Amino acid sequence: MSYTLKECGITPRKIELLNKANIFNSDDLFSYYPFRYETIEFKSYKDWKVSEKIAVEGILISAPSTYRYKANKSITRFNIMSENQILNVVIYNRPWASQLKLEQKLVVIGKYNGNNKITASNYYGKTIKDIEGISPIYPLTDKLTQKIISDSIKKAYDLLKDKIETTIPKKYIKQYNLLEKRDAIKLIHFPKTNNDIALALRTLKYEEFLRFNVAINILRKDNNTTYVKEGKKFNYDDVFILANNLPFKLTKDQYKVTNEILEDLQSNKVMYRLLQGDVGSGKTIVAALGLYATYLSKKQGALLAPTEILAKQHYNNLKKIFRPTKMKLAVLYSGLSSIKKKEILEKLVNNEIDILIGTHSIIQENVTFKDLGMVVADEQHRFGVEQRQKLKSKGNKVDFLLMSAPPIPRTLAMTLYGDMDVSTIETMPKGRKPVKTYLIKENSFLSVIKEIEYKLSLNEQIYVICAAIEESENYDARNTIQVYENLKKYFGNKYVVGLLHGKMTSEEKEETMIKFSKNQIQILVSTTVIEVGINVVNATVMIIYDAHRFGLSQIHQLRGRIQRGDKEGICYLLTDTKDKDSLERLKVLLKSNNGFEIATEDLRLRGPGDILGTRQSGIPGFILGNLFEDTKIINQSRIDAEEIVNNKNIDNIKFIELVTGNKNIDVKYMD
Ligand code: ADP
Ligand code: MG
Repeated sequence: MSYTLKECGITPRKIELLNKANIFNSDDLFSYYPFRYETIEFKSYKDWKVSEKIAVEGILISAPSTYRYKANKSITRFNIMSENQILNVVIYNRPWASQLKLEQKLVVIGKYNGNNKITASNYYGKTIKDIEGISPIYPLTDKLTQKIISDSIKKAYDLLKDKIETTIPKKYIKQYNLLEKRDAIKLIHFPKTNNDIALALRTLKYEEFLRFNVAINILRKDNNTTYVKEGKKFNYDDVFILANNLPFKLTKDQYKVTNEILEDLQSNKVMYRLLQGDVGSGKTIVAALGLYATYLSKKQGALLAPTEILAKQHYNNLKKIFRPTKMKLAVLYSGLSSIKKKEILEKLVNNEIDILIGTHSIIQENVTFKDLGMVVADEQHRFGVEQRQKLKSKGNKVDFLLMSAPPIPRTLAMTLYGDMDVSTIETMPKGRKPVKTYLIKENSFLSVIKEIEYKLSLNEQIYVICAAIEESENYDARNTIQVYENLKKYFGNKYVVGLLHGKMTSEEKEETMIKFSKNQIQILVSTTVIEVGINVVNATVMIIYDAHRFGLSQIHQLRGRIQRGDKEGICYLLTDTKDKDSLERLKVLLKSNNGFEIATEDLRLRGPGDILGTRQSGIPGFILGNLFEDTKIINQSRIDAEEIVNNKNIDNIKFIELVTGNKNIDVKYMD
């Protein structure tokens, strides 16, 4: 049961501020967890050590003086007397400290610098008894203060504490000695000791993961029970005969995952499988073999790509792979004439097309197959649970293979993609040269001009990537239009500069891409449109402006574009950010060329939001839980979730209802 903030007795002005932090009711308040705690502990002057954190109670003995050295920068100095010592205090950016009154009692918190000097982080007009202990520190927005948050939580808690219901089924509370929800909330917000915090975290994390795993488990059961089909009939040998016709040998992992897919196709269970592998690991051929098996079983297949350019490239690529067969392929995209489109759609219904290739939209539009047996969705980047489920619900008894980058380690995949089966290609085909990557702490191509000119003189080509298409007030990044103009000015006499971005028509994009692939364009300025797919073997250099604005996996994916031929690729990450964390993050790309590692780092730093897409999906996310540190809780809660879903006693049903509740998770299989 959740109460409005008004019902919690919070004033309208505060409600307004809380709303801005997405806090709308008592539940939101209680789950607005501190992101850290501050411990204030009294120690006598004689026990202070230099650089240590201290809390001291004293009397103000000199009038504070404030000096402002920038618009919102100031330094205030004053002296206090404590234990017969005169202490010099400085505090930054608290100009109102100049209001302190002589002889006033106050507590100063800060760092001891030696020689009776203190750099204060805060001061209070209270006694040390009042503030000693552990204080939660909450994330703040705008005008929201720590005090407003903690007061509001306190108010709501005092009012509602007897009404806070425990959601975790009793059995597990007992089994693991977990806290009742009421107590967990109390200890996370008002802890007295570090042990209190640890106890609260243990319970709340378990609850988060249990909710998540129950939701995922229900989706998975749903796949297994409602989606049954007639197994596809084909001969494995025939499939591998085609594989043996390729100009290269499949890697061990490609064999392994191909077998996993073929088994799924033959089984009565509808395939719902994720194929993951680093960029360039050779996922396409694996999907193609699955499509071929589908064809051998006399069913049609579809391959969906995120962009038209990639759809066309897949079409050409698959045509080559399937050349030894009699398969008929077609590619559908918006730029086709309506006559052509109509022709394809007719052939599709009449079973005169075996494999249809197109963008993701073809599955949504009125495309009717005679007998669709398998759908492959390539490069599902934003790959929330909801998107996956939607895609699945489109086809009736159709086997789904989803190909996703970035790949994540198996244990993480088991959690985050728990509603699917996961096949992973871990090894790369032999002979791949990693892309040499450099971090340039300047956002200008002039820093690498010599290298660029040299590469151009060797007749090699260059990608230049920008975070923005055009100039924009609210996005401070180099944009394609401006960079294109600049490069044209600089190189225009000798080389052709091209432009590619999402606002161009598909014909324009296509024309540019064709020119680039024929080396009629040498320098291609682009947004991340080129992130996926496209193969131009002669392009060996990539320059990425404002690199700090991209995700690590995204950059890794981008630089995969210049790892295609036998020449070594070189990638320059340009950035003028001074932010230490951003720079550290980018350095991961210099050290590692392993998509799994890079995605892991991305997950560690940015959380699983991108993968879960939880906000829209109704799948509970984790606020407290940490995918990397809480593996024990994750694994245990996965086992318990299975039990909860299988064993429908009242307690469990209540929990399932809470998880699926008003959300759009389909629980129709439940009896
Ligand atoms: P991704 O997994 O990123 O989609 P692709 O399927 O596009 O990668 O494969 C990248 C390139 O590697 C293609 O040119 C493909 O022909 C080639 N390739 C795939 N498998 C092998 C292999 N076993 N040995 C050598 N080259 C391969
Ligand atoms: Mg691919």
